[in-house]
Amino acid sequence: MLIFQERKGNGMPNQCKRCQAPVIWVRSVNGKPMILNAKPEKRIVIDRTDPSNPVGIVTDTYTSHFSNCPFANEFRKGKG
Ligand SMILES: [Zn+2]
Repeated sequence: MLIFQERKGNGMPNQCKRCQAPVIWVRSVNGKPMILNAKPEKRIVIDRTDPSNPVGIVTDTYTSHFSNCPFANEFRKGKG
């Protein structure tokens, strides 16, 4: 499971500099920066700690801003 740490106090903008959408910057566990849409979506994760009794947990989840930014192709070129 990937666990993301929210980056705080690092001066990263809370807005996409291309489309102006509100975003959150985080760092993935492998150290790569990620840009997420600031608005969370309610999703359900399944805790299978006890495989015979899976537990559904409602939680806020975030989607990659690359999935909906109209300028995503420019980010991928590394010029962001
Ligand atoms: Zn954008």
